[in-house]
Amino acid sequence: MIEKFENLTVPGPTVTPFTKPFWDAVARQEFILQKCKDCGEWVFYPRSHCPHCLSNQLEWTPASGKGKLKTWSIVHRPGHPAWAAVAPYALGVVELEEGPTMLTHLLVDPNQEFKIGLPLKVKYIKINEEWLPFFESIE
Ligand SMILES: [Zn+2]
Repeated sequence: MIEKFENLTVPGPTVTPFTKPFWDAVARQEFILQKCKDCGEWVFYPRSHCPHCLSNQLEWTPASGKGKLKTWSIVHRPGHPAWAAVAPYALGVVELEEGPTMLTHLLVDPNQEFKIGLPLKVKYIKINEEWLPFFESIE
């Protein structure tokens, strides 16, 4: 399944000053999230202030890269034509072990039976010289 993604020519992520540490870590195949030094909550997506207590003391911290499937959708008609080569594929919302949720690409056969709570872990795939985080089943 991974091979079909490796040959894509899709646009890469939009990197901003707030998201650059995340994408730099992905390029090293490391999974990091922001964690609030004041209230201890984990935060994703990357941002300047904690959504729980409004502190600006967010620190990039190594995270497990594991989570559970919260919901999903099978994409037959991609929003960008470059993804058509791998359609249909699965997108899902992963509830990370640390708490935040992440919308991501799932390395799960779209014809497979999905279930809420399916254990998942991050898997990195290099596309167009850029590493991207996907999630695969660990069952
Ligand atoms: Zn906080």
